[in-house]
Amino acid sequence: MVKVYALMSAFLYNGDTSFPKECLMGSLPPISIAELTRQLLDLGVKPGGVLVVHCAFSRVKPVEGGPLGLITALQQALGEEGTLVMPSMTDDDELPFDVRSTPCRDMGIVADTFWRLPGVLRSDSPHAFAAWGAEAAFITVPHPVEIPHGLDSPVGRVYQRDGQVLLLGVGHTENTTIHLAENLAGVRYRRRKRACLLRDGATIWVEYGEVDHCCQNFALVDGWLDAVHAQRRGRVGYAEARLCRARDVVHIVMEHLRDNETIFLHPLGVDEQCDEARLSLLSASDFPEEK
Ligand SMILES: [Zn+2]
Repeated sequence: MVKVYALMSAFLYNGDTSFPKECLMGSLPPISIAELTRQLLDLGVKPGGVLVVHCAFSRVKPVEGGPLGLITALQQALGEEGTLVMPSMTDDDELPFDVRSTPCRDMGIVADTFWRLPGVLRSDSPHAFAAWGAEAAFITVPHPVEIPHGLDSPVGRVYQRDGQVLLLGVGHTENTTIHLAENLAGVRYRRRKRACLLRDGATIWVEYGEVDHCCQNFALVDGWLDAVHAQRRGRVGYAEARLCRARDVVHIVMEHLRDNETIFLHPLGVDEQCDEARLSLLSASDFPEEK
């Protein structure tokens, strides 16, 4: 563990990301790693716990050390017994996923920095998550392709370990744990997906139906959690931060889905993803008869 910190410090102080241009211009003072760590602990990050983080670094910065500085603060807050988890999904389903080299730029600079660090494990799936710390191996292996966010997946295992979800500068639209809740609630909507995998050096395609849609209505979960005081809000770096238990997210979302299976889906005609999910629920007899 100490070795990892030392390696990361070497990255920090030799890299050119320490002080973004706007700091040098004097617009905002960078927040130190020690202060970030204090902010995380004040928010309620549990030392020794499992924490999955979704982050828009543009909202967090400037911080000492850039993305690596934030990762170091998260590790310090969790401590040596803790586990840090981040999404690490491919940007392009049409390219073969290689756990050692496929970037995850769409997940943001912090996530795309994290999986490359020494001591960080990554699940072997186009829907990959990366993890560091005590439970990293448990969190990342295995990761089925066909049900990417079920109980037997990285977010499923964060839930099993009573982990926390931290949203930094993003809302619940980025909260993958809500997909776990959809799976556990048994929602029937699916979108047709295919994934390109490397197996024994060969490229193979896997076709499957994924519980998915545009996810904009995941924003509803914000109010559901607030209504039962199941979410803490604060500031980390310069970003608005939200922290909640994965179990609270799952149980509250499952209650709402039991009342209304399609609560997250837009009405027909708003966007293609929700249309596909909605139409997957209709059997042929439910379609209006042709005149
Ligand atoms: Zn939609």
